[in-house]
Amino acid sequence: MSDRETIFSLAYAKGLDDKDELKYFRDEFYTNPGVIYLDGNSLGLLSKQAETAVSSVMEAWKNLAINGWIEGEHPWFYLSELLGEKLAPLVGSRLNEVVVTGSATGNLHQLIASFYNPSGTKTKILADQLNFPSDIYALKSQLELKGYNASENLIQVESLDGHILCDDDIIEVMTDEIAVVVLPSVLYRSGQILDMKRLTQEAHARNIIIGFDLCHSIGAIPHHLHEWGVDFAFWCNYKHLNGGPGSVGGLFVHEKHFGKKPGLAGWFGSKKDKQFDMEHELTAEEHAGAFQVGTPHILSAAPLIGSLELFEEAGIHRIRNKSLQLTDYLFGLINHELKDHGFVIKSPMSEKQRGAHLFLEHKEAARICKALKAEGVIPDFRAPNGIRIAPIALYNSFSEVWYTVNILKGIMEDETFKKYSNERGVIA
Ligand SMILES: *Cc1c(COP(=O)(O)O)cnc(C)c1O
Repeated sequence: MSDRETIFSLAYAKGLDDKDELKYFRDEFYTNPGVIYLDGNSLGLLSKQAETAVSSVMEAWKNLAINGWIEGEHPWFYLSELLGEKLAPLVGSRLNEVVVTGSATGNLHQLIASFYNPSGTKTKILADQLNFPSDIYALKSQLELKGYNASENLIQVESLDGHILCDDDIIEVMTDEIAVVVLPSVLYRSGQILDMKRLTQEAHARNIIIGFDLCHSIGAIPHHLHEWGVDFAFWCNYKHLNGGPGSVGGLFVHEKHFGKKPGLAGWFGSKKDKQFDMEHELTAEEHAGAFQVGTPHILSAAPLIGSLELFEEAGIHRIRNKSLQLTDYLFGLINHELKDHGFVIKSPMSEKQRGAHLFLEHKEAARICKALKAEGVIPDFRAPNGIRIAPIALYNSFSEVWYTVNILKGIMEDETFKKYSNERGVIA
């Protein structure tokens, strides 16, 4: 083999695995033999630590009943704030700027209800055309609740190619009429990272509040939300953070806004020592905890207790480094092995803009995904013609990336994808 061929060999992938300092984390997760799981950006895998944490919360319920709120290993009354503190290093915040609560969409509703204060001609919300639909539905409904026409007051920045947004285009539409900007940190399809620091500076220079949806970046890339001065952020914890299906989400509110009245109030936003006074006048917390509403979903937050231990141990910088190596390697292999098969990579490849997954387009994408699944490779399909591949730093290996590309090559060469219909399933 020539040197050039060597880097496309399985032996080379195995060499990368040998040198991988995070390789031991894979053993902490439940992986299925014979399955290459590349969908951890939709639903992360279960770790042993998460499983243990759920059992421990179940034990507390069994043994302590109501006293579990204040006793036991993880007193439930303080769990949302405690998990917020554990998330703080991942978003780059002060400990009390984060709380684990609600869901991504529910938290967006709360934050818009709190931070969108239209007045005069400053009534519009700025978003983008590529964001996840749930965010857009939430923004439109919030506009309507305030009596505004959503089609006139929601401005969605366009993408020239349908995959990438240009920071300059976003800044250009930050006009006097914009009250709030809500953007994804990492786009859910192309995986593009937006320049949160610059966008925040530009928004603030125009007296505009700005918040980010971190669903695809938390646990995958480092953030410095406090330092950048971002006003608010929200996310789900079941993707890169492996919190389990429907796991409780999270939100960030910058300390400069502490004391702000929550738009959607509920008793769990109270100061802890006042909550059980049962007064009808809310004494809201003066940190991110104020933005909680009702009783926390303890059983759906429990996996995070364990899962976040792994992030603390691995460190987000090592995770990011390996993730970049994995996507770089995947990119190289796709270009080499699949160049004649009609795939187009739509993700930006510069390190500054590349999130933790790659997005491939192919006109037969739906059935190619079905053929991959039949061969034990789990990507995800995004209508109409996209395949997302997410090699996860904590549990995927370079060898798995190698097998994936080579299995995909086999499917294309043998045309086995033609056995399947080119339509998406109910969940894609
Ligand atoms: C996954 C995802 C969501 C999901 O929101 P939920 O409220 O957890 O259902 C929202 N926004 C983006 C960008 C996502 O990727």
